[in-house]
Amino acid sequence: MSKSEDKSLTAKECMQRTEEVIMHTYNRYPIVWDKGSGVDLYDIEGKKYLDFVSGIAVHALGYENEKWKTAIKDQLDKLTHISNYYYSVPMMQAAENVTKASGMDRVFFTNSGTEAVEGAIKTARKYYYNKKGKADSEIIAMDHSFHGRSLGSLSVTGTKKYREAFEPLIGGAVFATYNDLEDVRSKITDKTAAILLETIQGEGGVYPATKEFITGIRKLCDEHDILMILDEIQCGMGRTGTMFAYENYGVKPDVVTIAKALGCGIPVGAFATTEKAAALVAGDHGTTYGGNPLAMAAVNAVFDQFEELQILEHVKMVGAYLFEQLELVKEKYDCIIGHRGVGLIQGLEFCVPVGDIIKKAIEGGLILINAGADVIRFVPPLVIEKEHVDEMIRKLTASIDAVM
Ligand SMILES: *Cc1c(COP(=O)(O)O)cnc(C)c1O
Repeated sequence: MSKSEDKSLTAKECMQRTEEVIMHTYNRYPIVWDKGSGVDLYDIEGKKYLDFVSGIAVHALGYENEKWKTAIKDQLDKLTHISNYYYSVPMMQAAENVTKASGMDRVFFTNSGTEAVEGAIKTARKYYYNKKGKADSEIIAMDHSFHGRSLGSLSVTGTKKYREAFEPLIGGAVFATYNDLEDVRSKITDKTAAILLETIQGEGGVYPATKEFITGIRKLCDEHDILMILDEIQCGMGRTGTMFAYENYGVKPDVVTIAKALGCGIPVGAFATTEKAAALVAGDHGTTYGGNPLAMAAVNAVFDQFEELQILEHVKMVGAYLFEQLELVKEKYDCIIGHRGVGLIQGLEFCVPVGDIIKKAIEGGLILINAGADVIRFVPPLVIEKEHVDEMIRKLTASIDAVM
């Protein structure tokens, strides 16, 4: 397609032509995005939207942060890719940043969240293999969890609709009820290699783990020499007001998976482990792109900006404000039956499917997303201000009023 065609293309044409050639794995909203700036998005007709989705918890810094952009452009001018058979300074720095922020000792960089989970699963299996000298391990995962779409991650994803058509999946996955410590305990056998959970279940409807659950699992893992794997792909990287959500519970996992906001829009993920859990050695795991200097430059810029903009303090402040304001919304409507979450990952549960409310909000210039059929999930850029919360609340309540 030529540049001039690009200019004259209408949203309708773009959607039609896309639908003719793209695989139908998503039911897309009828918007064609053109650009982003701060916490706003613009469609190709120039209409402005307030964004409370951030590409699903990706754009922590908002759109087009200048220093992030400059760091990527500078790296682009030097070197974008080099094999993992060599070293680079950006990778060294990114590995130092991730280990320091997470309290882990070693990190492996991937290109996506699901690959990070794959790496965590392989770590658990290898750890067990080293210990027992046999390969028959099990992983306890949670009902209603979400860990990604590749076959290993799908195997530990406890949501039937994602799995059903693709079975048989990898063996050894055992499911327990989230926030039910006794159920998890009852599923432990001498084959259990790891317990895997999201610190806050994101896709499943924004369900934070209880303190008893997280600390109880830490204790069980210590007692049985089982790896505790926390998937912080959605709730990590500052979203709860701490760098990782597990800090709010005073525990440290043996393995953590990270992605979404790690590159703030450049595709990158990671799994990090303690020294003890770092069971993967040369030959066990690899990736062509993972850890390339371009992605690492983005990661380093993200960590620099987190510090410079004091993102964590900001999320604590504006997250508490969002919580107060959503509580008021909940009190106002009988059809809202739950409000959960912390920092800038919160959910409102309705007694009806939320699809129509979201469509109305989009018409009114507010981007929202669901988490399950009945929950509206709020995962805005971490740089939003109170005034953006106020604007969101006005548009949200107008949308609820119009639909209900
Ligand atoms: C998004 C997500 C994933 C998968 O990440 P992808 O980059 O889409 O593969 C895994 N776990 C959690 C908790 C997520 O939110």
